[in-house]
Amino acid sequence: MSDKPKTSSCPMCKKPAERAGNPSFPFCSSRCRHLDLSKWLDEDYRVTTNITDRSLPSEEEDE
Ligand SMILES: [Zn+2]
Repeated sequence: MSDKPKTSSCPMCKKPAERAGNPSFPFCSSRCRHLDLSKWLDEDYRVTTNITDRSLPSEEEDE
């Protein structure tokens, strides 16, 4: 039937993460899940900031 593994390697710390009773799967713990989430949020924030900076017409003023 299903041969899904009961454990997987945590993407953050590479430790074995258990699927059973683990709401943070495939991470080993909520701590690693939050670390990964903040990493993605940080990258998204930087990209958004970069785009905003480039579209600001700050040096187009003639005065
Ligand atoms: Zn982990």
